[in-house]
Amino acid sequence: MPLQHCLRGVDGEVDMSFADRVAVVTGASRGIGRAIAEELAAGGAAVVVNYAQDADGAAATVEAIRSAEGAAGVFQADVSDFSEAEALIKHAVTEHGRLDILVNNAGTTRDQVIMLMPEEDWDVVLRVNLKSAFNCSKAAVRAMMRKRYGRIVNISSVAGIAGNPGQTNYSASKAGLIGFSRALAREVAPRKITVNVVAPGFVPTALTNDLPDDIKDASLAGIPLGRWGEPTEVAGAVAFLAGEAAGYITGQVLNVDGGMVMA
Ligand code: NAP
Repeated sequence: MPLQHCLRGVDGEVDMSFADRVAVVTGASRGIGRAIAEELAAGGAAVVVNYAQDADGAAATVEAIRSAEGAAGVFQADVSDFSEAEALIKHAVTEHGRLDILVNNAGTTRDQVIMLMPEEDWDVVLRVNLKSAFNCSKAAVRAMMRKRYGRIVNISSVAGIAGNPGQTNYSASKAGLIGFSRALAREVAPRKITVNVVAPGFVPTALTNDLPDDIKDASLAGIPLGRWGEPTEVAGAVAFLAGEAAGYITGQVLNVDGGMVMA
């Protein structure tokens, strides 16, 4: 369920703070990406739901948005591929005439200790988690600069801040996203485009399903709020950074992790 209740004012009116905004959410066929797409659509944005493989999942995201009277369409693209990412952004701009919000959410894992990690697993994770943000942002910035408005939100992870054993590839990609975001934030600030990062902690999704129970239990012990996060809680942070209230915030990292990492 989207955080529509959080977008309601005291008078119970739904806050359509994204009315007339166009958003692209990469990797929105399930999990956190789906929650972000639903949240932005609940605020009135027209959302382009991207996926690479899971066509049924992406269709379900679009269906959920439309049944809540939101606006959404779907576009298949492997965003780790430069031309496909470019086609995704071009589609959004051609279809809607503008692009206001880009959420680089698509991500994957190939966990293994470094001694056993194949080179291919390093390359895939860096390509999907980091290069895709370059691919999409490069195309999006062009459209945003024309309008002198834009919000880019990149989904990193606490693993990119604190590091996780067995995740040198994933942690490097997520740390890379933070450096990328800060550099880009400085580049595009004169054009009124902001670039920020949301760093979730542990959120049960398909991505974390396969983690052994002892690792899940250990992660719980390290969370001051004593529970895992919900996709909707990550989506709420993204909506804040994508919204008007965050117009003076750029180059920042917002942890949504129950207090797991405090810096
Ligand atoms: P998820 O349920 O596995 O969803 C990942 C999404 O990324 C799917 O929609 C998948 O779509 C898409 N995707 C993967 N490769 C893609 C590609 N090359 N091109 C386009 N889409 C692609 O994972 P999640 O937990 O929601 O994770 C979402 C983001 O949050 C990721 O960046 C992840 O690293 C980050 N994160 C998650 C957690 C957590 O605890 N869950 C914590 C910190 C950060 P297809 O299947 O259609 O390819």
